[in-house]
Amino acid sequence: MNTQTIVASVLAISLLAVSSCRREGASDPAAGVRISTSVLKSDVGGEAWIIGEVEAPHDGGAVESYGICWSELEAPVVAGNARRFVPQAGQSGTLRLLQSLDVARDGLVPGRIYWVRGFIEKGGKVSYGASQKFSVTEPAVQTGIEVFEIPLVFHVLYTAENDRIQNPTTLVFFQSVALLNKMFGNNFTAAGSSVSVHFSLAAGGPDGEWLPEAGIHRVRNLLGMQSVDPSEFLDMPLDNRLDSVFWDPNRYANVWLLTSSRKNLSGMSVFPYVPVAHPLEWLEADDYYLVNPPDALHGIVLNNASFRDDDNKMTLVHEFGHLFGLFHVFNYWEDCRDTDGCDDTPTYDRNVYESDPLRWMYERMRCDGTVFMSDNIMDYWFTYETTFTPQQCARMEHVLRYGLLTPRSPERSKAILDNFTGEVPDRAPIRRIHVDSSLFLK
Ligand SMILES: [Zn+2]
Repeated sequence: MNTQTIVASVLAISLLAVSSCRREGASDPAAGVRISTSVLKSDVGGEAWIIGEVEAPHDGGAVESYGICWSELEAPVVAGNARRFVPQAGQSGTLRLLQSLDVARDGLVPGRIYWVRGFIEKGGKVSYGASQKFSVTEPAVQTGIEVFEIPLVFHVLYTAENDRIQNPTTLVFFQSVALLNKMFGNNFTAAGSSVSVHFSLAAGGPDGEWLPEAGIHRVRNLLGMQSVDPSEFLDMPLDNRLDSVFWDPNRYANVWLLTSSRKNLSGMSVFPYVPVAHPLEWLEADDYYLVNPPDALHGIVLNNASFRDDDNKMTLVHEFGHLFGLFHVFNYWEDCRDTDGCDDTPTYDRNVYESDPLRWMYERMRCDGTVFMSDNIMDYWFTYETTFTPQQCARMEHVLRYGLLTPRSPERSKAILDNFTGEVPDRAPIRRIHVDSSLFLK
């Protein structure tokens, strides 16, 4: 199966986890093997997500493979339905798995009971974890809605394997994607939009192979330093080392999780480009990236210290707002000029607010002197951070539909190129990056 098939099939599903349960077990504890398997359920149906962890001495290539297997029988075996992975050279520590099983791709029948368990093959012998029961419901169908699929990859750049801030557990990423879908889904629906955006953890990598952990790419010691200034990181020239953690931005949304040397920095995002034929106020309209590959990193950087609880995960939602063409709802100028191209986000003077935030708290003063409560995701502390307005959703729809270096289907890429009759500039457009510090306070 090629990557596009993998991605396309996984994109037909959603990631809203509502519960999980976990069982552990191993058939060979004496050999130091521990295998755990958890099932995460979806509240949209048609899929089940399986988290697995395998711990076994596997240095020196002793582990031949690991993975999950499933069947309608309580003890599935690797000879049946299985997804199998080979540890990378030099890989150590826990072998992690995050796999989706679904109706369309895997032939699961809604309502039927299945069993899944992790396994490891070592020294010619297979060890299994305890079986976990699961089922899927009918896939949800959204009629009359055009869905823009955003496959995500988190490049986790860490130095210490067991540091949960640097190298978070699988579940943290799963939950952050569920939050993205909830926040974008709720607001596109509330805006009465005929489109929606659906984030998913990418099932396959650029080489077309399955990822052991969907959407998660863990890389140790990439930069050769404990921490890095995210601005300097985004400005690094592309080379083989960086290419390995920068996947085609026309297919994946790239998010880098790293240890920031600037402690109060929450995240950064590169603004998108739009083609000249489809301009959008405040964004660079330039056709260069219609045909040219990116010549610099394009995506989102997150400070791993700000990526723990749900409130901090809202930083990712905010950064996706920037990546999809949104600006902040306030300004630091005194003339109350609009800052974001949206009439339904009241502009306010941030200087007034920051002069006494404890007085204003969740309130803001519009330029006409009236007061409102802050709930916009593109605002800064203190804010309820629940809302993208209809005009913000319309801007994002424009970028999702026409944006360059924005994930899109091969069909959409072809349509954009087929309809292009202009001249391609010989120089890349100006790159604009947004830096966010200490975004949300409660
Ligand atoms: Zn921001």
